[in-house]
Amino acid sequence: MPCTLKPCPFCGSDRLKINETATRAFVECMACKARGPKHESQWESKPFAVHNWNIRKPDGELEKDIAIILENHRLARSFL
Ligand SMILES: [Zn+2]
Repeated sequence: MPCTLKPCPFCGSDRLKINETATRAFVECMACKARGPKHESQWESKPFAVHNWNIRKPDGELEKDIAIILENHRLARSFL
């Protein structure tokens, strides 16, 4: 599993830190303090924390999903 971190999806910074203890790990952006999903395991967590940080949606995809959800919500309410 590669250990290269993609830039922060929120601010674009590459000042990233992997916070790791004996039982869990997560990636944190030092610029905006965004955090990736925590991975908790008795085994090595760092590769999973890196993977979880890197599999977020590409730029703009999250906004598209939110627009679809809002439109569906609006349509659902129009039937009430
Ligand atoms: Zn950031």
